[in-house]
Amino acid sequence: MHSIPTIQGTHGITGKPIEIRFEQGKIEQIKPLAGPSTVSSSILPPLIDLQVNGYGGVDFQQDGLTLEQMEHASLTLVRDGCAGYFATLITCPWEQMLSRLQHLKQLRQSSSILSRHLLGWHLEGPFLSEEPGFSGAHDACCMLDPTIEHLLAIKAITQDDPCLLTLAPERPGSMTFIQEAQKLGIKVSLGHTNASNTTLNEAHIAGATGFTHLGNACPQALDRHDNILVRALDPACWITGLIPDGIHVSPALFRLLHRCIPSGQIYYTTDAMAAAGSPPGRYSLGNIELEVGADQIVRHPGRSHFAGSALKPVEGIQRASRMLGCHWSQLWKHVSTIPSEWMGLNLGLAIGAKALCTLASEGSDGNLKLEVIAA
Ligand SMILES: [Zn+2]
Repeated sequence: MHSIPTIQGTHGITGKPIEIRFEQGKIEQIKPLAGPSTVSSSILPPLIDLQVNGYGGVDFQQDGLTLEQMEHASLTLVRDGCAGYFATLITCPWEQMLSRLQHLKQLRQSSSILSRHLLGWHLEGPFLSEEPGFSGAHDACCMLDPTIEHLLAIKAITQDDPCLLTLAPERPGSMTFIQEAQKLGIKVSLGHTNASNTTLNEAHIAGATGFTHLGNACPQALDRHDNILVRALDPACWITGLIPDGIHVSPALFRLLHRCIPSGQIYYTTDAMAAAGSPPGRYSLGNIELEVGADQIVRHPGRSHFAGSALKPVEGIQRASRMLGCHWSQLWKHVSTIPSEWMGLNLGLAIGAKALCTLASEGSDGNLKLEVIAA
């Protein structure tokens, strides 16, 4: 990460040489350059990730995380090409989840590194399906039906921060919760759900806009005529998260999903846990002990489901490009403008946008190299 007043490069979308000047944490000027740029890198809207459960050996699902731990996780994400992320908290006892959120919010307020890169909050749970296979790595014993009291407790902590909440709309109380969440500026995404077509439609009308890591959080064996994948795809209305590691969603399904879902409605997420950005070994996700091998697959001993990924953001877009057979630059919107615009983040190559962008270049080995620029 560099903190500098200006950068030069090729505009990642127009292909023209430009210079960007930063001032007081914002993009102040974008100036076309007359001659060819002196650097070969592309300047792109920042790569962001809306679902990060932990990184660089730090598990966000713990009480009493230190500032050093959160700054280490943030800077390791930055090292791996992720300019900004939503810290994600998964299902645990409700009061504990709130106190973890409150604690992380306080850490963020005391750190320029965190306030620059920790862009918002993603609460994945506790309002999820308890059905086996749909609950995934979440503890079904801690799940709850959503109420307005829950919503107000979240809002009291997150205040005006960007906030995403994943829930299963078949839980009683969901529709009122979704309507009120929308009014408070909290985005609702559906996930870990086995909702019927009718319930999904009601959730859409109530104001839910997203679908979290489609293709995951469902049983390995599904009814071929009627399953959550088909129900979620049929209306083509959701801003859909996909994990582009080739493991959570097979390459063939990944390609099919790109044909079924309008391109402007797909965003990629790593759903990373503590092992991402760290060597293979044993890591925690809340109170679950997980093993991560050299293949980066996160294994929950004795269970069939995956529990987060060990995918680095820079690897995600390269794997997506290999699976889809296209250049990574064509997919950049799925890690930048699409999630950013959905969440209402002030990011991008525009005057007044937050001073955060990504420099991308291809090394002699053909690998994508990303550098986060923040000012
Ligand atoms: Zn999940």
